[in-house]
Amino acid sequence: MQKSVELNRAVEAAGRLLDQNSIKLANRKVILDLLLQERILTKQEISERTGFSFPTVSNSINSLLQQGLAREAGTADSTGGRKPKLIEFNPNSRFAFGVTIQGQGIRVVRTNIDMQIVDDLEVPMRRGSSAAALIETICSSVSDMICRSGTSIQNFLGIGVAVSGYVNRKAIMIEAASNLGLKNVSLASLADRTGLAVYIENEANAAALAEQRLGIAQGMSNLIYISITEGVGSGMIIDGRLYMGAHNRAGELGHHTVVPGGRICSCGKRGCWERYVAEDVLLNDYRSVTGNDGVGLEEFFADLSEQHPQAAELWERYVSYLVTGLHNIVAIYDPHYVVIGGNIAEYPQYLLPALMKGVFGASSYYQHEDTYILVSELNKDAFILGAAFLPMGTLHARLG
Ligand SMILES: [Zn+2]
Repeated sequence: MQKSVELNRAVEAAGRLLDQNSIKLANRKVILDLLLQERILTKQEISERTGFSFPTVSNSINSLLQQGLAREAGTADSTGGRKPKLIEFNPNSRFAFGVTIQGQGIRVVRTNIDMQIVDDLEVPMRRGSSAAALIETICSSVSDMICRSGTSIQNFLGIGVAVSGYVNRKAIMIEAASNLGLKNVSLASLADRTGLAVYIENEANAAALAEQRLGIAQGMSNLIYISITEGVGSGMIIDGRLYMGAHNRAGELGHHTVVPGGRICSCGKRGCWERYVAEDVLLNDYRSVTGNDGVGLEEFFADLSEQHPQAAELWERYVSYLVTGLHNIVAIYDPHYVVIGGNIAEYPQYLLPALMKGVFGASSYYQHEDTYILVSELNKDAFILGAAFLPMGTLHARLG
């Protein structure tokens, strides 16, 4: 803290020379961050913690009060003299929208600054729906939510969209989402129609962000997120930042080869990891060995817990492929955490012991104390919270 106090004092002093507005803005950001972390403080405490003079703190607080980002919350005990006013962070002063487009439909949520979901809407959509229908559904959902929020549109920071497949962030475009049947679909008109900034991200990348900012891997600078659903998606945070690669296509871990010449994949190659570890693969394989077409994950794991031989054999094979891929990933990236999301993450009691033993058991090189394989706690909300986080991350830029 001492270092940041010194730095803040230096910044304050530099304010005499630099543009006053920029300095005021920088001060406000520092104070907002402190309030966000501590939630409730007196001006005196803010002055002591930041090193800013009392008048500087007062000015910044007045501005944050005016903007609704902070509010007065009674008085603290007096240490002599007048009781100091308490200033409280207001998480319900700004909002963002998160949108996911998945096979079963579109989900739109409204989150507050604490990334709590305060409104949630799911609209079923048929696969192969037109781009116009997609945009119309998102627009009307967002408009409905703004109406029922009872708050002004100025308090909305934007719309973040997460979608499986390749996206063009600059053009706000879905370049290719093969499982949704979408190709070169621009969402740029959403901005004109709603009056809000629009951001787009691959859903596994969005989930990786959510896990790092809000979830089980909070604050970890090296994290691999793997979503196991009908396919296998992944997002990689390396040295604290989402790793995109030269062509924004990094992290296609579902398409790294685990069986040369193996099963044919939708990408055109053979032996891709997702052809062995996707949820659908596990279920389809179990359906074909049992002849029960309707079997789901719950039934599979119920059979596994009763040591049903076909379930046990299939699970052993499934885990071995999962271990092969995870071992490759740990060897290549050396992450702090590997976080697994998707429906299968609802069964950690089966998944985690087998993976930890398989990945680290026979290796003299890696130890499980170095890397933790975990299941997502955000799970189904990881994609959409990551989406909403895209505009929420711009809060600081909008303090002015
Ligand atoms: Zn593939």
